[in-house]
Amino acid sequence: MAENRFLILMYHMISTPRSDSEIKYACTPGLFEKHMRFIRQNCNAVSLDDIVTHHIQRIPLPENSVVITIDDGFEDNFINGYPILQKYSIPSTIFLTAGMLGEKNSWMSSRGFPERKLLSWYQIKQMQDLVGFGAHTLNHVCLPEIGRDTARKEISESKAIIEENLGAEVKHFAYPYGLLNEQVVKLVKEAGFKSACTTRSGFNNSSTDMLKLRRIEIFGNDSLWKVKQKLKFGTNEASVFQPLKYYASRVVSRIAGNQHQ
Ligand SMILES: [Zn+2]
Repeated sequence: MAENRFLILMYHMISTPRSDSEIKYACTPGLFEKHMRFIRQNCNAVSLDDIVTHHIQRIPLPENSVVITIDDGFEDNFINGYPILQKYSIPSTIFLTAGMLGEKNSWMSSRGFPERKLLSWYQIKQMQDLVGFGAHTLNHVCLPEIGRDTARKEISESKAIIEENLGAEVKHFAYPYGLLNEQVVKLVKEAGFKSACTTRSGFNNSSTDMLKLRRIEIFGNDSLWKVKQKLKFGTNEASVFQPLKYYASRVVSRIAGNQHQ
């Protein structure tokens, strides 16, 4: 049953890619606008705060609820993304790498990616009317690999820094690289987060663990057609064969269902 079903989309940069390695992460402003226009016209754009409220109060979400999330906190989110989000009145959450704001994406450039500027606090504050901010650790670390005390610090201090600068509670977290284990989830809970996003794909519903929310990755070069497929099937693989696989599995389940009648 599709009760309370919702999808969370994940973006990174809203820019023209500067290298082949960035194609997956950098969505051009023109394409981002097409995606947002489609979502405004065909879905119900809701915020992670809305998700938490609906979850606590156990009230169903609107049909086709979609949450926009943007990871890492790149400066282009303000320069290119924010005007588009404003134009279509789409709420979103940007997950900030809180210890590196105003600096560059060294966790990527050290692996051969182009250097990119991260948001400044001034830019973040400009977006506060429409955009919510979540935490994404201080230094974009691999949480399961750094030891419990360091992981605790990365999680709780990223929350504290953003709260101090914005004067608002930070309720949402995203695991860098989508890496987590039970200890990491426990630390996120202890820090006081109400939701946490993974990179595992799929639909969420009222029984999904709020600290293990699934997300659909939108690649930088995903055409509008691909985004529509991803929204329809709740998967990262939006290949031309997906509809066939989907309908084939429905036929199989219908046959299986008939056998039980
Ligand atoms: Zn990240």
